[in-house]
Formats: sequence, C-alpha cells, structure tokens
Amino acid sequence: MPPAGSSEVNIYRRNRLKKAFVKKLISNQYTLVDLTSGKEFIASARGKLRHMRIDEDSSFNRQTTKKTKKENKVVTISPKVGDVVFYDDQEQVQITEVLPRQNELERPDVANIDQVLVVFSVIRPDFSFHLLDKFLVILDLERLPVVLVISKIDLIDDEPLQALKEDLSYYVSMGYDIHYVNSKERIGFDVLTTIFKDKITVLAGQTGVGKSTLLNALMPELQLKTQEISHALGRGKHTTRHTELYEFGGGYIADTPGFSKIDFRIFEPDMLKECYPDFNALSSSCRFGNKCLHQHEPGCAVREATEQGKIPPWRLAHYRLFLEEIKNQKPKY
Ligand code: ZN
Repeated sequence: MPPAGSSEVNIYRRNRLKKAFVKKLISNQYTLVDLTSGKEFIASARGKLRHMRIDEDSSFNRQTTKKTKKENKVVTISPKVGDVVFYDDQEQVQITEVLPRQNELERPDVANIDQVLVVFSVIRPDFSFHLLDKFLVILDLERLPVVLVISKIDLIDDEPLQALKEDLSYYVSMGYDIHYVNSKERIGFDVLTTIFKDKITVLAGQTGVGKSTLLNALMPELQLKTQEISHALGRGKHTTRHTELYEFGGGYIADTPGFSKIDFRIFEPDMLKECYPDFNALSSSCRFGNKCLHQHEPGCAVREATEQGKIPPWRLAHYRLFLEEIKNQKPKY
C-alpha cells in the first residue's frame, strides 16, 4: 500500500476526476469546458486549492523557490482563464487542481497562451524598432510565442510601406510571422483569421496602435457581448474580476488587450543575451565564445555580422541600450 500522496495514489485520484478547460471567470465563478464531452458548465474553486501541493518540475515551484530562495512546495494559486484543471462533480462542481502552466500573464489574467499578437501601427504612433526589439525580448523571456501585426497601412504611402517591409524582412528571416492590416477595410484579414485555430491568443501593443479596433473588426459580436456583461454587472464596478476567452477561428481570443507598457524583468546581462536567438547562432564564433556580451569585445562575431550588413544596425544598438538599462537598474525582490 503506497503512502498517501505517492504517485500511485495521485494517479488513482486523478482517474476519478475529470479534466476541463477554464473559459471564463466572473468574480469567483468559473465557466469550464469538459475536455472529453465539450460540455460547458459553471464551477467554483475549492478553498484548499489555495494551498495545493505542486509537482517538483512545475513552473510554480520554480518561481516560488526562486522568490524565497528555499524549498517551498506550497504556493498560493487560484485558477485562471486558460488553465487546464481537474474537477469533481460528486456533490457540487468544484475545481480541485490546476495543472502546471506553460506560461501566464496578469493583464489579461490568462494562462497557457499559445501566441501574443503584438500590434504596431505604421503611423500615429510611428513604428518603432526600439519598441519591437523590446517586446520581442520580454515576450521571449515569458516564453510567449509572438505574431506581429502591422496596422493602419492605409495611412502611409506605398513607398514608405515597402521600405518598412524591407526592414522587417530580417524578422521574417528570424521566423516571425508578420501580418499587414487595415482593420477598417479588413485588408489582410484573409490570412490573419487563419492563425487562431487551436490556439489561445492575446493581443498586446502600445496605446493607440489599434488593438481594440482590430479585436472589434475580427469579432464584431464581441462589442455587444462585453456591453451586455458590463450592464449585467452594473456600471462602475471596475473591481469585479472578469476575464473571458471568446471562440474565434477555431481557437480562443482573450477579450481584453494585453500589456501596453512594458518593463524588463531581467537582472542579469546573460538573461538578455538568451533572448536573442539570432545573436546566439553566432556566439560560438565570437573570440570569447559564449562569454561574449557582444559589446566591445575583440573578435565579436555579432559585431562583424552587423558591420557586414547581415544584422540590421539598430538591432545590435538596441541590444546594447537594453544591456545598459539592465546593468543600471537595481534588482527588485
Ligand atoms: Zn560577441
């Protein structure tokens, strides 16, 4: 007989429980979708979930141990939209366990995000490679895959638009998917609407780039739904926790756009370097190999590649700026 809490007991317990996906959260009410039947229903979260045990290899454990700098297997956690959970429907429908998350955001409060659509406008505000490089670093650090959407393409002439596309082709060669859209006329939507299948998507981008316009153009019915919800909850009740994923294009989109202001959560120069796959591919050719920070070290392959025009000059310049920013900031714990 295995002792309580051993894996055999857990497997037995898990088999009895059912698995679901969290689609919506209003106050403390969760809307779950059963992963086998596809049935939707309302559930609450069991109180003791707040002090649940987690697996050694789960990301929660990693974060907790990092924070407290000691072994700590008990964490405070409540289910989020996007979570995969076990639930019990013996008496009341209750969430009993949250499965380890692939990643998560706080605004919007969503877990297991498959892609972030980062929206940049060509003008008003102007397109910024500085901001693009910063977003790519931060999202890479959070392990969030990125799709780039360039909006308001109708507001500039063809020549500057072609020049921008030319400059952005480097990012395409890095493997980024870039979509050029005009939300008002739904230009670029034919391809854009195919990327949501089987994925949880969140929108992000600077204020004014047209995230809400894009979201409303993709899902005209959304505006109506959010109005109904705010009406039902009563006006001015901004404190009510409400996050919802809407079915779209065979996947889900979060109803609220993600972060518009971004800050580094990096304290080690090496961590920044890790967020540059294009530089990393060259690191072994730097004279100091993986120890090279690509600043002013002799025999730096990244600098050479930049001088040869293989890497855009702004990309290395931004990297060095970010490196200075990180070196100058005080660590926050
Ligand atoms: Zn180097």
